[in-house]
Amino acid sequence: MSTTQVDNAAGAAGSWPILGQERMVAALQGAIAREGPSHAYLFAGPPQSGRSTLARLFAQTLNCETAPAGGGPAAAPCGLCRSCRKIERGIHPDVRAVSLAGQESGGAGRRESKHTSLSIDTIRELQADLNLRPLEGRWRIAIVEDAGTMREDAANAFLKTLEEPPPFTVLILIVPEVGAVLPTIRSRCQVIELRAVPREELARALTTRHGVAPERARTLAALARGRAGWAIAAGGQPGFLDERRAALDAMLGFLQGPARDFFPLVDRLVDRFKRGRRDEVYAELDAWLGLWRDLLLVRSGCEELALNVDYLDQLRPLAARFTIARLRAALTATRDAARWLDENVIPRLALETMVLRWTEGEC
Ligand SMILES: [Zn+2]
Repeated sequence: MSTTQVDNAAGAAGSWPILGQERMVAALQGAIAREGPSHAYLFAGPPQSGRSTLARLFAQTLNCETAPAGGGPAAAPCGLCRSCRKIERGIHPDVRAVSLAGQESGGAGRRESKHTSLSIDTIRELQADLNLRPLEGRWRIAIVEDAGTMREDAANAFLKTLEEPPPFTVLILIVPEVGAVLPTIRSRCQVIELRAVPREELARALTTRHGVAPERARTLAALARGRAGWAIAAGGQPGFLDERRAALDAMLGFLQGPARDFFPLVDRLVDRFKRGRRDEVYAELDAWLGLWRDLLLVRSGCEELALNVDYLDQLRPLAARFTIARLRAALTATRDAARWLDENVIPRLALETMVLRWTEGEC
């Protein structure tokens, strides 16, 4: 393979095409070069922070066909060989990914739990698969998205694989935070925590690597809160900032309106959640979290840290209507609701509690 091809696919030789996670990449590379990969990893970070990209690049590196013959694995995926391309397209026979979304479309799992937790059936299917030797690559790799949603039965079944992993397997569990899985699972995994990428670094990358106009890049980088995957996805959607403006105007309308009736909002979110559109619910809670956080920052005199940098003129008078304690309580309530949904609390209970706490102390 020529140097030009490597440059096209993966940047400088040895580097992985992922933004802002150089330390994590170096840790994974160092470990596989020295003693080979561990059998299990926990990739922790908020959704769209780059966890799945990092997992895919790791799988590609382990099975890349450019690895030195008879030696260790490659230092970076070439991105061009048959194995790298199959992994990229999700069709490599030795790299299996499970997720709530896949479970839903694949039909595994009990109907009632499909949208909220990885079922024991899904875990058993995965285990049966992991017991086979690799067909094409060196390693059989399982990427377990939404690993934090496993209930006790699924987690205990999974624990058996972690305790006695087949010699040629690598398991990658993807979670929002390290505490999302049982300590018995965590203690058997190598923990890789993704770092939040600084605003300036994100804005620069959006402009230079993804062709986003500088001003738009700055707004998106501020909104991204360190999540490169989020910023890149938003940068690729031309209508994103317009839609976000409409959503934010509606949220501000809710807060400024006379009745402050949040129950239609709860109904809408519960309905979406039940129909399996969890990502949309989390995205909306995330937007509320951003708004409460900004109001708190503006109210406390730290508006330079706000996310919605283009809305400060509207945020200032609104923030003045709340006490710092109330804004802090609303922020905590929103964060709790997102966590409760992750922990399978009944959606209506989680969301109603949230909006009640938003308006607590008002007459
Ligand atoms: Zn390759």
